[in-house]
Amino acid sequence: MSTKVDSVRLYKVRKLISELASKEGRGTELVTLYVPPKKPVHEVIANLREEWGTAGNIKSDTTRNHVQDALTRTMQRLKLYRTTPDNGLVIFCGALPTNGPGSEVINLYEIVPPKPVTAYLYQCDDHFHLEWLKDMLREEKVFGLISIDASDAGLGILSGDRLEIPDVLTSGVSGKTRKGGQSARRYERGREMELTYYYHRVAEHATRVFVDGGKVTGMIVGGPGPTKEEFLKGGYLHYELQKKVLTVLDTSYAGREGVRELVEKASDTLQDVRLVEEKRLVQRFLSEVNKQGGLAVYGLPRVMETLQKANADVVLVSDDLNTVRIEAKCKRCGTVKSETAQSAERVQVRQDMISEPCKSCGGLEYEVSEKDIVDVLEELAFQVGSKVEVISSGTEEGNMFRTFGGVAAIMRYRPG
Ligand SMILES: [Zn+2]
Repeated sequence: MSTKVDSVRLYKVRKLISELASKEGRGTELVTLYVPPKKPVHEVIANLREEWGTAGNIKSDTTRNHVQDALTRTMQRLKLYRTTPDNGLVIFCGALPTNGPGSEVINLYEIVPPKPVTAYLYQCDDHFHLEWLKDMLREEKVFGLISIDASDAGLGILSGDRLEIPDVLTSGVSGKTRKGGQSARRYERGREMELTYYYHRVAEHATRVFVDGGKVTGMIVGGPGPTKEEFLKGGYLHYELQKKVLTVLDTSYAGREGVRELVEKASDTLQDVRLVEEKRLVQRFLSEVNKQGGLAVYGLPRVMETLQKANADVVLVSDDLNTVRIEAKCKRCGTVKSETAQSAERVQVRQDMISEPCKSCGGLEYEVSEKDIVDVLEELAFQVGSKVEVISSGTEEGNMFRTFGGVAAIMRYRPG
């Protein structure tokens, strides 16, 4: 199973976190459950059954019922799993008011987390415990660092703010000044060969650490002097790593010290990586817009149409779109009608939709469902093998993109 974390998945988790952060229980009755991948589902259920029994001692009738109902719902959901998913499982469940006190309904939110859950947690509180999930979002990228000069090389792995230096090499290449009696040319040739051998060694180690050892998002290369450029230009590095080089930086040291220095100097680059990706996407979109016969389309209806025709290479959507798609299915004849609406207007739109009789049979009873527009696009895109990229608002490119309505696609070909 792929553990790749894409922008849509992160967007969804973030959105859910912000939604859940505002929820409060009437009492200590909101259940938080984090299940690590290695914990068998039946053990979790057994644990919750015990908690259900303990909850019988709660004095307040409402709280006791709410806690026990939440636990029952959570156990029912867990029973659908034969095994714990690869990254584990996170569930939030509890009685939440729909319309003031007394109107509580049990809600369950289930998340397959973007990274493996590291420990088991069961909590019953007046709020949901979202901290672990937030932490998972924070450390999503892994960077490979190479700090190199003619005498030392250090390889580092930075994930989140954790730095490891799994490998340090010494070149054994003789110094720049030759010994007396040696011819200048012969000395140079010898040194060159030693360096070439050293570069190959560094590249081999880099392959082992960065390619075989796991996926890195990007590479940062640094060191004092011209060695780093020579190393990169020589094409020694594995092609997969070579194309991931984000930046090349000058540092005072190489080797272990150099790797640490590189982390400090690269902090801006590291933060900007996703923004750089987004910038590239928006610029690609803009250049297609400006080109005669370009491949860009924008606005929700045209983007949807492009997706339905399986002609979207990539769909861009602004993270502040706040748009939902409302579907009303006639209970009598099954005819479906749908509308898109801004979050703020959705109650009104919903109301309008259900108060208007069905066009096919005149019926007035509907089954109504609502989805965030990003989810709708993602589902469509998945079916036709395209990709959805969420663009951050509030950046220069994000704002520029917003002027096109916040939804766009780059087509695979120009429709004839
Ligand atoms: Zn109907």
